[in-house]
Amino acid sequence: MTGNSARVQAVQNITNRIPMPAKTPESLSNLWASDVFTLSKMKESLPKDVFKSVKKTIEAGAELDVSIADVVALAMKDWALSKGALYYAHVFYPLTNATAEKHDSFISVQSDGSVISEFSGKVLVQGEPDGSSFPNGGIRSTFEARGYTAWDVTSPAYIMTTDNGATLCIPTVFVSWTGEALDKKTPLLRANAAMNKAAQRVLSLLGHTDIAPVNSSCGAEQEYFLVDANFVNNRPDLLLAGRTLFGASAAKGQQFDDHYFGAIPERIQVYMQDAEEQLYRLGIPAKTRHNEVAPGQFEIAPFFEAANVATDHQQLLMTVLKNTAKKHGLVCLLHEKPFKGINGSGKHVNWSVGNASQGNLLDPGTTPHSNTQFLLFCGAVIRGVHKYGPLLRAVIATASNDHRLGANEAPPAIMSVYLGSQLDNVFEQISNGKITGSLNAGVMNLGINTLPVFNKDSGDRNRTSPFAFTGNRFEFRAVGSGQSVAGPLVAMNTMLADSLNWVADTLESNISQGADLDTAILKTLKELIDQHGAVVFGGNGYSAEWHKMAVEERGLANLKTTADALPVLKEAYIEELFDKLGVLSPVELASRFEIYSEQYILAIDVEAKLVVSMAKTGIYPAVVKYLSELSATISSLKSNGIELDNERLVKIAAMLTSMMETVDKLSAAISQHDFSTPEEHMHFCAKSIRPLMDDVRHYADALEGEIADELWPYPTYQEMLFIK
Ligand code: ADP
Ligand code: MG
Repeated sequence: MTGNSARVQAVQNITNRIPMPAKTPESLSNLWASDVFTLSKMKESLPKDVFKSVKKTIEAGAELDVSIADVVALAMKDWALSKGALYYAHVFYPLTNATAEKHDSFISVQSDGSVISEFSGKVLVQGEPDGSSFPNGGIRSTFEARGYTAWDVTSPAYIMTTDNGATLCIPTVFVSWTGEALDKKTPLLRANAAMNKAAQRVLSLLGHTDIAPVNSSCGAEQEYFLVDANFVNNRPDLLLAGRTLFGASAAKGQQFDDHYFGAIPERIQVYMQDAEEQLYRLGIPAKTRHNEVAPGQFEIAPFFEAANVATDHQQLLMTVLKNTAKKHGLVCLLHEKPFKGINGSGKHVNWSVGNASQGNLLDPGTTPHSNTQFLLFCGAVIRGVHKYGPLLRAVIATASNDHRLGANEAPPAIMSVYLGSQLDNVFEQISNGKITGSLNAGVMNLGINTLPVFNKDSGDRNRTSPFAFTGNRFEFRAVGSGQSVAGPLVAMNTMLADSLNWVADTLESNISQGADLDTAILKTLKELIDQHGAVVFGGNGYSAEWHKMAVEERGLANLKTTADALPVLKEAYIEELFDKLGVLSPVELASRFEIYSEQYILAIDVEAKLVVSMAKTGIYPAVVKYLSELSATISSLKSNGIELDNERLVKIAAMLTSMMETVDKLSAAISQHDFSTPEEHMHFCAKSIRPLMDDVRHYADALEGEIADELWPYPTYQEMLFIK
């Protein structure tokens, strides 16, 4: 329901709302991972040799011994039943950004009609959901609908509790009958493996003999908005598209910078605590929380974990944030740009690689110039971003993220690397052929005796860089808030694998030509930075000069929209990259292009249809009503000898006419379907449909500022952002 009375009712409901009481927090030791089938629970419940075998697979990447599955399944089932679960589900991650699950009961009917609960190794290891309704990008025709899920031992099983009961959830990969990956997890596991293999090569060339498996880590910072559900229910755009397609800015936005890191409102704090409690139960290490820049915007960041587990946890976190919001009468918006004119939401993906024997391979220590191992790994990342920057842009390309990138609130669409002054200087020395030392970050003396003198970080933060080195990791800052982090992690690990292989090849060739190890390393690093240093940029990424310099002088791509970025997935060098490293076959890669371009087109189609219907059925009637009231008043005043200028009436009528003319143009554009390629259709969406939507909005938002507030049908920005 919409309309002004619904709007008034919404405000009343919120004003009269009985606050949800804060729960007394349980102790962390009681909560922590209580709903996870952890290694320690396995240790308690599994025979020693079985436990050892599972542990070896989880920790050292050893091949899964399927013969132990029955024993593990039994222990898992007993644990799940003790937690009240009656169902189990293979959870998988199709090529949408969502999580999918198929629930099965533990119940098994016996020949005598009685029932027992049963869960065999076979069903733990493999499932077969009918996958025909998941996007497959042409990999399967619908009559070949078989899809398989297979247990991912490296991501722990857990219990998901909702008001409807508890379910044992088993993280799985999802592949087609012909073995192609239909999900986001399979390529992530493959990309990790490729990166591990390449990293091992480099480490052994550097003389290490004891090298544990190298894994990537991810810590994702999640931004989100909270809006009262009463408002969302009156906004078809928020309900169906997750963002406002109309809405004049409130007089106050974020210009006072008074929300960022401000005191968290009580209602929100109660919500956050509730969400965190569930995250702790699920073994998700939620660590920081704070108010973000925009009113109504917040952030949560769990501590980093192994990339595969962090990715699954990220999906769960988004689910928990949304479901908990509902319980609190709120809606959690994960869209990248829910409100015009204030900041949107991103998901910074902090990423590093390391292992148990050599530690974090992206940790420079205090004297990076002498840490050649670090320089090689860091250099490999630089080369990766330079060679495959367009790929990094493509994996974050969605209709919603396009609103953020390059809008002076998020990094531009140009992919560059920020290193900080100390590392900039080291790489400059390398380029000059000789490394002499590291600039000292120095100490910060605040000149006040009672305050400590502290060591400065070796580089400042740079908010404008899409890919910034932040001390011991890289932070990919252009990722969208609603996205799975799998795609970015696949791209990063794959480009790193390729670069590390190049490093290993080059080292080998330098050594075979007679160079000693140190000389070979320096030669490799110099070649690397001379070829790829153009991607390193420490200045203001928002500035117009950079946009010009990046493209014209440095040859970097500026792929502004998804329509520009997604076709990168079809380029030969990207196909070769994924194929060569065994991450995605050409068919799998092609399917991703198909699916993501279709999602882009569909997202814009839904929005455009909403613009048309809200303009016609909500805004037009409200403005007409105002015009008729106003003109009746003018006439009646006139008959009483009072002259009210009708200039305003004429002006509003003209704006309304313009709006409806644009709506008609938009309607005509939506009905156009004769496109020969997805590329052509995407460009039509980006260049014709989107601008028409903006034009309609332009008139509508202006009208919102003209007509009587008591007639406006939709909750306003002021209400949605400031009433909680
Ligand atoms: P900031 O807002 O300063 O960027 P936060 O503390 O909000 O920092 O988030 C930083 C994220 O980076 C956290 O998830 C943290 O666990 C993660 N992180 C820290 N070190 C590493 C690392 N070596 N590899 C990957 N992620 C890391
Ligand atoms: Mg950050």
